[in-house]
Amino acid sequence: MNDKTDEQEILMLDMIDRFLKKEVEPYAHKLEHDDTYPEEIVEKMKEMGLFGCIIKEEYGGLGLSTTTYARIIERISRIWMSLSGIVNSHLIMASAVQRAGTEAQKAEFLPRFASGELRGGVGLTEPNCGTDLQAIRTTAKREGDEYVVNGAKTWITNSMYGNCLALLVKTDSKVEPHHRGMSLLIAEKGPGFKVARKLEKLGYRGIDTCELVFEDYRVPADRLIGGQEGRGLQQILSGLELGRINVAARGVGVARAALEDSLAYAQVRTTFGKPICEHQAIQLMLAEMATRVEASKLLVENAARAYDKGERCDMEAGMAKYFATEAALKNATEALRIHGGYGYSKEYNVERYYRDAPLLIIGEGTNELQRIIIARQLVERNPV
Ligand SMILES: Cc1cc2nc3c(=O)[nH]c(=O)nc-3n(C[C@H](O)[C@H](O)[C@H](O)COP(=O)(O)OP(=O)(O)OC[C@H]3O[C@@H](n4cnc5c(N)ncnc54)[C@H](O)[C@@H]3O)c2cc1C
Repeated sequence: MNDKTDEQEILMLDMIDRFLKKEVEPYAHKLEHDDTYPEEIVEKMKEMGLFGCIIKEEYGGLGLSTTTYARIIERISRIWMSLSGIVNSHLIMASAVQRAGTEAQKAEFLPRFASGELRGGVGLTEPNCGTDLQAIRTTAKREGDEYVVNGAKTWITNSMYGNCLALLVKTDSKVEPHHRGMSLLIAEKGPGFKVARKLEKLGYRGIDTCELVFEDYRVPADRLIGGQEGRGLQQILSGLELGRINVAARGVGVARAALEDSLAYAQVRTTFGKPICEHQAIQLMLAEMATRVEASKLLVENAARAYDKGERCDMEAGMAKYFATEAALKNATEALRIHGGYGYSKEYNVERYYRDAPLLIIGEGTNELQRIIIARQLVERNPV
């Protein structure tokens, strides 16, 4: 990393820490429990440029590295994991345009994504498929200079309060293999783009995740990302590596939150005449929790560095995502044990970590899928 980037990163992380302390931490608990969308916080995130943090400066973004982005996401998730999702799927959409869009699409959309004027995420999952994306049924039929979209999507984050999606559709349902008939559209809300309902969730609350229905929804043909049909699955899958690094960084944040809360609690809670941190059973848990946090951090840094260098990093991102999110789940569970009955109380944040962590093992490719990716890459990179 050069000096300019170092300095930029220090300033940015410092600003994030101050923002989280002042504008998020005091309100997160109530917003989360009430499942209220954090509108004022999102406005401040816009002002700080977070919606454009990895968009190139020439398009109005901050042009930060993925490594810095991951550190920002870790910090945000340490305080309230839901907020990181508001940025993440938006930036997967933006990075699909940045990487695969035509020059005209980049010029038109990236500045609007960077400012947060257009905000949203990715519409991939459907009621019948999430992991197996080639099974999607949403179609986009070309009619003149428009696509007419019909179908349904589910679990789409940022789709109620956001106004744009990178939408995965079938432009040709007959071609084999199926991915050759899949395309990605920049889909701004308009007639026929309907939010059917907001989904109720165990955790990851405050953020809008919805079911969508498309009925003769028209998208101008020049919003086909890259201008060529049949490339959508590849375009979105290469963006998911960024998403996986982000989810891994969220895992570090939640795992660290669980550790730090437990470490503090274990020093003030006494049983049998001494703080519980002096009981060996608690010490073993704290030691393992801290080791998981450090190991997860290193895996995330490793994957982010590879991504920044433009190296192939599906295995690295997969390892980081798998390990860090399992660490979050394990640390959240152990934090609950360390807090005893208080861990089960809604007054403490520990129960939130326990509800938030399971999402991380599902989103951006389940951890079963991550292990399959890792194993395939191991074989491909080590032929005999
Ligand atoms: C809170 C939340 C927010 C989300 N936000 C978004 C979003 O913004 N946009 C979006 O498009 N999607 C979103 N999703 C959907 C998410 O990406 C999917 O839930 C995820 O990809 C898994 O798909 P599925 O739920 O259909 O499970 P399935 O694919 O049906 O998988 C079910 C189980 O089978 C396992 N499995 C599947 N295939 C294999 C295989 N080949 N080998 C071994 N095991 C396998 C899975 O690991 C899992 O354990 C969100 C989900 C949640 C819960």
